[in-house]
Formats: sequence, C-alpha cells, structure tokens
Amino acid sequence: MKHTIEVRHLSKRFGDFTAVRDVSFAVRRGEVFGFLGPNGSGKTTTIRMMLGLLRPSEGEAIVLGESVARHPERIRPRVGYMSQRFSLYNDLTVLENLQFHGRAYNMSNTLLRERIQEALHLADLEGREHVRTRDLSGGWRQRLALSAAMLHHPEVVFLDEPTAGVDPVSRRLFWDLLYQHAAEGVTVFVTTHYMDEAERCHRLAFIQRGRLIAQGAPDEIKARVMHGTVLELAPPQPAAVVQALRQAAARGALPIREVALYGTLVHVITDPVPDVIAQVRETLQSAGLDAGAVETIAPSLEDVFIACMRESEPSM
Ligand code: ATP
Repeated sequence: MKHTIEVRHLSKRFGDFTAVRDVSFAVRRGEVFGFLGPNGSGKTTTIRMMLGLLRPSEGEAIVLGESVARHPERIRPRVGYMSQRFSLYNDLTVLENLQFHGRAYNMSNTLLRERIQEALHLADLEGREHVRTRDLSGGWRQRLALSAAMLHHPEVVFLDEPTAGVDPVSRRLFWDLLYQHAAEGVTVFVTTHYMDEAERCHRLAFIQRGRLIAQGAPDEIKARVMHGTVLELAPPQPAAVVQALRQAAARGALPIREVALYGTLVHVITDPVPDVIAQVRETLQSAGLDAGAVETIAPSLEDVFIACMRESEPSM
C-alpha cells in the first residue's frame, strides 16, 4: 500500500450548497500532510468523509487500503481523530481522560496501564496525572488530547486545527510531539491556519470554497505558484505605502500583482521585470512617500497562500 489516504473526486452537497467539490489527493505513510484553507472552505467536511462520519455525495475516500464508505468499521480502530472541539472532559483528571479513551477502544487493564505510561512520558505529562483537565493550560490540554487520540496506536491520525489559540512555544512542543509520531510511521493529516506550521508539513493542499487550488511540498507550491518577484519594504509610513502602491497598480502604472502589510513591513509581489525596485521607489517618491529599505526576498508560504486564493478568486 503506497498511500495511507487516497481521496478521489470527493464531493459533498448539503441541499443546494456544495461544501466540497471534486477533491482528490493522496497521502503517503509517515507523511505530515497539511490541509489549509479559509474558514468554511470544506476542511472539516473532508475530514469527516475520510473518517466515515459523513457520506460523500460523489467520489470516495480510501484509508489504509479500505473504502471508508463500504467498511467504516474496519478503519475506525486504526485511525485517531482530534476534532476542533476535542473530546476531553474538563471535569476529569489527565489520567481519567486517558483511561476513558482507552476503555472506548476496549483495551485490557494491563495494556491500558502501559499505554498511559507511554503517553504521559511522550507528552511530558508525567507528574500531572491528577490535575483536572480544566486546570491545564491550553498547550498541555492539546498535548493531552493528542495523546488520547494516539492511545490505541492508530496508523493515521486526523487533527482538525489542533493548535488553535495556543501560544507559539506550546505550538512548537505540540509539533515536536507530532513529528515523533510521524517518525514512527504514523501518517498525520492536519488542518491549520498557522503558516509556520504549514511550512513544517511534508506536503500541503490548499482548499478554497470546497475546491483544491494547489498541492505539493511547500517549496514546490512556492515555485509553481510564484512566478513573480517578492519585495519587502521597510517604509516609515507602511499603511500609506500600501495604499499608494495599490492605487498605482490599479492605474496600471506598476507591474504589481499583490501588496500586503506584514506588521510594519510591506510585501509587494511584482512581475519579474528588471528595475522594478527603482520603479517602486519612483512611484512612491512622486506620492511624497519614502520606500525605506527594499529587498528582494524568497516568498513566504503566506505570500503564496494569499496569491493562490486571489488567483482563484480575483474579487478577494
Ligand atoms: P473552519 O476553518 O471554520 O473550521 P472548514 O474549512 O472546516 O472551516 P467546513 O466546516 O467543512 O469548513 O464547512 C464548509 C461549509 O459547509 C461551510 O459553509 C459550512 O457552513 C457548511 N456545512 C458544514 N456542515 C454542514 C451541514 N451539516 N449542513 C449544512 N452546511 C454545512
């Protein structure tokens, strides 16, 4: 079995509304596969079809070599799922939550004890066994939720925005834990809105309004999608610079595709033409603005993501 997950022409309609439209992709064993898209773009719906929780309107999902629609019962014991509102009981302690999860998978007491020790150790939760889940910080809670989802040693795990609202240090620790599981051969399918996390995925798919608009390794997507040049400006008045460049682009005065504010910096995606930096400086000068330091930079995944979304929906 080359692919742990194969999704072929998957669609889901709710009445007249199509939430997922002809989506196809494949995920290899041990791969960390990131699924990115704006709110409401169809990520959770796709996951629910891959888990057999929702019947596709068209197409099929094959997980671990089994058709999900035909044999959901064969797949469920072999997969883990951490949903957005993940299934921890706040009134239970860390240990009780793990015990509860293990029992749901009919583990013997001996196996459960072994697995809980392993989970506590891996997630660095040793010493916190008797803490009530509601008293854990967000980062610890996510790691407990992941450990619970991994307790029955699934071969593939689906994580729906597992780190939403968690601080950067805890997110990093969570991803380190995720990579430990992947290194042991677990396939990880994860949705995220964080671009630093997307950069850490082996491969990615972008979804917008239910359609897949790009997929591949982060560097491949960057190379394929970005044929232009990305400039980073550090101007004294970034907001005014964004406005002036957008106006110039609208007039057709500059070969600009995209202007975006990055904190106090401005990213400008232009056609790959010579002297573009000089053109940008002159345009700003004539509007009475200083471009500040200007550098050509490698596109970030965020640049690519925004460019992809705009390309497939220019009115954005
Ligand atoms: P988010 O990032 O906000 O979690 P998402 O990409 O996971 O969003 P989905 O939850 O898959 O998006 O929803 C896709 C679209 O399908 C949304 O417009 C949502 O309102 C709609 N939708 C989802 N489930 C149902 C349902 N049971 N009935 C009707 N519409 C639904």
